[in-house]
Amino acid sequence: MKMGLRGRLFFSHLVVMIVGVASLVSISKISSPHLFVLHLERLENRGFDLINIRTELVTGFEFAWRRSTIWSVLVGTTAAGGLSYWVSKRIMQRLTEMEQITQKFAAGQMDARLPVSDIPELSGLSASFNRMAASLEGVEARRREVIGDMTHELRTPLTVVRGYLEELADGEIEASPEIYRRLAKETRRLERLVNDLQELSKAEAGYLPINIQRVNLRPLLESLVKKFTDQLLEDGPVLLLKCPSILPFVLADIDRTEQVLVNLLGNAVRYTNEGSITISVGTEASQLWIAVVDTGIGIAPENLPHVFERFWRADQSRDRHSGGTGIGLTISRRLIELQGGQIQVESELGVGSTFRFFLPLA
Ligand code: ADP
Repeated sequence: MKMGLRGRLFFSHLVVMIVGVASLVSISKISSPHLFVLHLERLENRGFDLINIRTELVTGFEFAWRRSTIWSVLVGTTAAGGLSYWVSKRIMQRLTEMEQITQKFAAGQMDARLPVSDIPELSGLSASFNRMAASLEGVEARRREVIGDMTHELRTPLTVVRGYLEELADGEIEASPEIYRRLAKETRRLERLVNDLQELSKAEAGYLPINIQRVNLRPLLESLVKKFTDQLLEDGPVLLLKCPSILPFVLADIDRTEQVLVNLLGNAVRYTNEGSITISVGTEASQLWIAVVDTGIGIAPENLPHVFERFWRADQSRDRHSGGTGIGLTISRRLIELQGGQIQVESELGVGSTFRFFLPLA
């Protein structure tokens, strides 16, 4: 049978105590009478007459020595045994308590935390466990939140598609190109949502491969301006590029930066009916900033803090209809952060919005 920690602790104390007592008793047993006899001889040399009582004295000494040794061994071992039992029990109590709490945590009680102990090593263990528990609790909370948001987002297009299909099956509506177009639109929306979600989950978990290199972003900006100008309507906003002809190099992943710019420009185009959309570029400290400035509908001050949140849209119903998923800016922010930069927004309702991101200069 394996001995538990408590038994081992107690046993090791016991062994130490037995070794201590045994060496104490044996050494004093060997040396004390000898020393006593030496002492008597020294007295005799100084002129004391001990011849007649010498045996008496030695027997008396041995008797006294035995008595006191027996008592001290008895009292000593009892006290040490009791103390050792108490110490092992105290450590065991803490450990058992810790084990119970970790089991509770493993069983799903995410708020279970270890108490602080008066033993520094155990306290250190508790602190590490508690830190790990807090981070796991955070991950679990985010996971639930994402699943909650996701099911909510997926439900709407699915309900619409099912509605149309059921009505078609029951003959309540006539099949027409218009109905099929609507069905296709909802399906596309679902597809986009699933793609965005996949990208978001990768970005949030940090699995997106980021290939940071020393790059010049000017060619990218020029090609984007060309691409988006082709999409703009005749009477819509104009797209401008305000960029120094020689741009300093930055440390960035060019594909991810393009992804962010496509999202920002896409939003600007979607929310700007007239005026202009300008891409400005400049440097500040050791960073390069790129801003997408529009003269669109703007964002209300109370909504500004939420724009980078997952699934957030200023006008839930309108944007759901227009196809926005509310994930684009969340992904953009994550992509910029993964490249060591940051992204900001300034906006005024009815005046326009400015999304500006920073990337480290090479
Ligand atoms: P979406 O796919 O809905 O555009 P985003 O995360 O890109 O998702 O944007 C979130 C919300 O922020 C949008 O639904 C919109 O309400 C608001 N928004 C983003 N860009 C702009 C802009 N340039 N002007 C006004 N509102 C914007």
